Amino acid sequence: MQDRPPPGDTPPEEFRRQLHELADWIADFREHIEELRVAPQAKPGAIRAQLPSHAPETGEPFEAILKDIDRLIVPGMVHWCHPMFLAYFGWTTTAPGILSEILSAPLSVNAMTWRTCPAATELETAMIGWLRRWVGLPGEFDGVVYDTASVGLLHALAVAREEAAPSTRKLGMTGRDLPRLRIYASDQAHSSVEKAAIALGIGEENVVRVASDDVFRMKAPLLGEAIARDRRQGLRPLAVVATIGTTSTASVDPVPEIAEVCREEKVWLHIDAAYGGGFAMTPECQWLRNGWEMADSIVINPHKTVFVPLDFSVLYLRNLERLRRVFALVPEYLRGDTVEAEKNYMDYGIQLGRRFRALKAWVIWRSLGRRGVVARLREQMRLANLLATWIKSDEQFQLSAPVNMGVVCFRFVGNRRLPSSVPETPARGRAFSQERLDQLNNEIVERINQSGRVYLTQTKLRNRTVIRAGLGNVLTEERHLRRAWELIRETARQLA
Ligand SMILES: *Cc1c(COP(=O)(O)O)cnc(C)c1O
Repeated sequence: MQDRPPPGDTPPEEFRRQLHELADWIADFREHIEELRVAPQAKPGAIRAQLPSHAPETGEPFEAILKDIDRLIVPGMVHWCHPMFLAYFGWTTTAPGILSEILSAPLSVNAMTWRTCPAATELETAMIGWLRRWVGLPGEFDGVVYDTASVGLLHALAVAREEAAPSTRKLGMTGRDLPRLRIYASDQAHSSVEKAAIALGIGEENVVRVASDDVFRMKAPLLGEAIARDRRQGLRPLAVVATIGTTSTASVDPVPEIAEVCREEKVWLHIDAAYGGGFAMTPECQWLRNGWEMADSIVINPHKTVFVPLDFSVLYLRNLERLRRVFALVPEYLRGDTVEAEKNYMDYGIQLGRRFRALKAWVIWRSLGRRGVVARLREQMRLANLLATWIKSDEQFQLSAPVNMGVVCFRFVGNRRLPSSVPETPARGRAFSQERLDQLNNEIVERINQSGRVYLTQTKLRNRTVIRAGLGNVLTEERHLRRAWELIRETARQLA
């Protein structure tokens, strides 16, 4: 019989050559990203139509795959890393962030228990501590890294549920004497609250949306009233979700007042600081920390504002053991793998297999240092405020919310012909009805996004359509923002 080599892996010399080729590809992509369209021209289905319906029968060379990335994938992308991408919560890709992702790939471990990779577990614990000290969260908070804030919230509410309705872990929710559980969040809070309620068997209708004030912060007195009303009706208040940096306007709920209500009512307080948490590192935003030491749980997304590439979200709990009690469950085949004295992160959530996410945080945070992170966050705020001054000095536009952190919401209002001494007067829309203005603002965003030159989003505030810009990209400079603002004005002029 002939001695055939096993299928194995790519020969080392060939692999080395491919890696060099890939290194050049990445460096070129990053250097020339500005020359790309921010968003594709593709119609739905156009990309899939160019892909074979069957996977290949035999292997293809890496060169062919890379060529198709250039031909099919890159032109079919919204380039979140493009300096003219001003949508959502900006983005956080940096050169060290790219290096950190590359480094994670060859190590490819499963960080489920301490034994399965001590370095992954211990680095995760260390990074959770670094971030906690950076943002100034008290020492009694300890955390766990998940993919997203939505998943962090789900776990926090599972703990709240177990404490408000003991033995739910064992018995479930049905077939027992259990009143409806209620969760409270402002009308500006993220939809992940409803998603968690759906997944936990609480039901989305049991999420009570509390009205916000004129600058989009939860009205704390209304929260107290809503809880009292529910109690009178025999419902069981479970948790309040307060937000530091809401998704539309980055507004910040009055956490100290909300925490006071939670303490009196003995209700779990979760703080969604997915976006705002990172900004607590900056001298301008120390106030964001007010009252958060009273929370039961806090989620922060370093993949939004602390420059870790997606995904990396930290859930902090006052006394992490509360989380372990709800989720620890050691299967027989892993019994030998769990060293009681060490942390086994699989005990802190529903996931068993876990990526080595801490590695990328370690690489990027060491590369930038605290000062590097803070300098970049301050630049985002500077640019956001600069855009706001341009908007304020143009009477065809109006700020729709105070500028918080890196978020600017504004609206084209047309020729109001109002005296410049009363810029804060609500738009009366002499030239256009409010409905027509809604349409125009929507069209401005759509047309700009189709142009491929800038990418923006729109949102609804008090039922009116507004344009939303999010500053968060390290490549976005003042000249880019100026160009974007010029395009917005020009597009508005054309459409109106
Ligand atoms: C982005 C965001 C979320 C959801 O974050 P994921 O990590 O994508 O789940 C939740 N809350 C707020 C306020 C957000 O901005």
